[in-house]
Amino acid sequence: MGAKFVDSVSPSTPLPPYKEVKVTLEVTGAVIASLDEKFNYIPGTERNLEVDTICLAVGLSPLTELLFQTGCEMRYIPELCGYVALRDENLKTSLDHIYIAGDVTGIEEASSAMVEGQLAGLNTAASLDFAPPNYYELNQAFKGELAQLRHNEISKVILRGIEKATLRKGGSHVCST
Ligand SMILES: Cc1cc2nc3c(=O)[nH]c(=O)nc-3n(C[C@H](O)[C@H](O)[C@H](O)COP(=O)(O)OP(=O)(O)OC[C@H]3O[C@@H](n4cnc5c(N)ncnc54)[C@H](O)[C@@H]3O)c2cc1C
Repeated sequence: MGAKFVDSVSPSTPLPPYKEVKVTLEVTGAVIASLDEKFNYIPGTERNLEVDTICLAVGLSPLTELLFQTGCEMRYIPELCGYVALRDENLKTSLDHIYIAGDVTGIEEASSAMVEGQLAGLNTAASLDFAPPNYYELNQAFKGELAQLRHNEISKVILRGIEKATLRKGGSHVCST
């Protein structure tokens, strides 16, 4: 596998002083290992893999254009990886008719996105007078499930972000950056 050298100068910019650059990169393998709860490698768990390609997925950010367009109150919250809509504990935004769930509330993971979807759906139904008879129990259960999912070291950052993004009763936003 070869690596292409790409320079970023525009045609009108004088060329940098190199005449030629030759780069060859070849992946022949990878060593993977388990991590402890603080994301340190656990010695003795290494495994050698014969691979010729490694794909990295990094740099996710919430796709919040539609929320901007609707006029939801937005805020840049680094812990949630970008601009997100402020919301209350039931995931209602600053606009009465808009509830949010998943990566658009902040980058986290699929499991919490799914439970948030249930919580937001339940509360959207309730706001339209379609609350099921066990609304209260379900609402508490979904929130409990989210708390459980976020009960780990890495979620501390996410919880800090959520705290900053939470609208308190009456719509006032009490958290600072
Ligand atoms: C490479 C990668 C690996 C991952 N691995 C894991 C993993 O192992 N475990 C895990 O728990 N999570 C993982 N995640 C995260 C997980 O995929 C997300 O947290 C989850 O999919 C969030 O669900 P969502 O419904 O909020 O968003 P999405 O699944 O992203 O769904 C949003 C949808 O909305 C659509 N959309 C966006 N904007 C618009 C618009 N303006 N108009 C119309 N449609 C629009 C998008 O096309 C998309 O289909 C991974 C994510 C990535 C990128």
